[in-house]
Amino acid sequence: MTAKLPYLNTAYIRRTELEDVMRLFYPVLSASPDNADALTLSCDADGIAVNCAITFRGASDNYSADFGEEPARGKQLQRLLKTFLYDFLCAVTGLKRPWGSLTGIRPTALAYEMLARGEDIDAVPAKMQSAYRLSPEKAELIGRILHAQKGYYNSDIGNFDLYVNIPVCPSRCAYCSFISHELKKCAKLLPEYIGLLLKEIDFTLNLQARLGHRLRAVYIGGGTPSTLEVGDIARILAAIPPCGELTFEAGRADTVTREKLDALAAGNVTRISINPQTFNDATLAAIGRRTTSEEVFAAYALARGYSFDINMDLIAGLPAEGADALRVNIDTCVSLAPDNITVHTLAIKAGSRLKLTHDLNSVNAGEAEALNSFSPMAALTAAGYIPYYLYRQKYMLGGLENAGYTIPGKQCLFNIDTMEETSSVAACGAGAISKAVFSGGRIERSANVKNIDEYIERFSEMLERKTALFYDRDKQADQTPIYR
Ligand code: SF4
Repeated sequence: MTAKLPYLNTAYIRRTELEDVMRLFYPVLSASPDNADALTLSCDADGIAVNCAITFRGASDNYSADFGEEPARGKQLQRLLKTFLYDFLCAVTGLKRPWGSLTGIRPTALAYEMLARGEDIDAVPAKMQSAYRLSPEKAELIGRILHAQKGYYNSDIGNFDLYVNIPVCPSRCAYCSFISHELKKCAKLLPEYIGLLLKEIDFTLNLQARLGHRLRAVYIGGGTPSTLEVGDIARILAAIPPCGELTFEAGRADTVTREKLDALAAGNVTRISINPQTFNDATLAAIGRRTTSEEVFAAYALARGYSFDINMDLIAGLPAEGADALRVNIDTCVSLAPDNITVHTLAIKAGSRLKLTHDLNSVNAGEAEALNSFSPMAALTAAGYIPYYLYRQKYMLGGLENAGYTIPGKQCLFNIDTMEETSSVAACGAGAISKAVFSGGRIERSANVKNIDEYIERFSEMLERKTALFYDRDKQADQTPIYR
């Protein structure tokens, strides 16, 4: 379905926010010189009362709200108008979306905003369901996550997490939009890269120590860090100080060997990822992952001989995979009993090869609807897992989400910190993005350059960027309350 871009006559909402709501119903938006059937939304607000009118393809509606004593504020108005537009488009199309009018914001961020205002944790899901038109299942998902994060959620800005990026993979998967280099194309650069990366890790740990910050969790990701040689893996792990949680991504089963697992165990790794994405070999071949389900089973069996917590990632909605395939994948994963299972939803973004061959939104529209008919949450909670974090991205199939599930007590701190944006992340390596969380919840980011060769050339600049980011952090505190 296509629709013309919206025309907007209000200063209270950003046009892109409207477009995001329209895209929930009309995945393809087009610009048109005449804008004959474009959606128009006009809005007057005098601070207390708001009046809106909307027209689109012959349909129209009006909406008024009175804020009484309390003046309506920008963000509040924006959310309200988005829900108004959402309701209107539901009526026009006869469709509903699982996350209602929520776009461009982490659902749990809204939930924590409500908690910070003094809302009871058990009242939050129903209030969000009503305010943003969430489906009962998504409201329940939020409620379960809030409970699963109790005791793990920590907004102490004296904490930081360390992230180390190894943007290297054995081959490139078709759906991947990360900056990751194929091993054969970057092998010559790796010795120099690892040498500089070790320097950046050392510099970063010293910087954080001088600031008096405490290391909470470490995550070595990418890419596929287990693509590296055993010796390089050991050198990187030797640079990491003792930490209660140290995750090492061994996502591709074709990179997992006994020698590498020995190095991870010797380097005090506590958690690894072995990611099937799907157990269907035809799909694995089609997405260029160059592993088979047999290799995943073998790598998992090998890793189970160690004491790591193990996460497995699945992707819902891969080409030719609908709700039945997802059910089979989840059942297979559960039968292996990993500690964590992450269910991603396919999002086809710029930079991926799939983007070139798939028009995600139109080609898969039917599959997206079908995917909604199966509930990973129901299947996984029945198997003893609890959802503990979620995030959403643009261009996700069916407007769904990525959600992490865990055996109770095995929540990954790094994932919670990252998704809830409660902890600074000092990130090292090409493509790594550091994040400083300031008092009051204000966040600033600083990215390293993306490519390995550029990282090598401009290494000293990465250290300068990091210093500038973290040394400024205490200068501009604001007083916005956040949930503790
Ligand atoms: S293994 Fe992961 S990071 Fe590497 S190409 Fe595939 S999806 Fe991208």
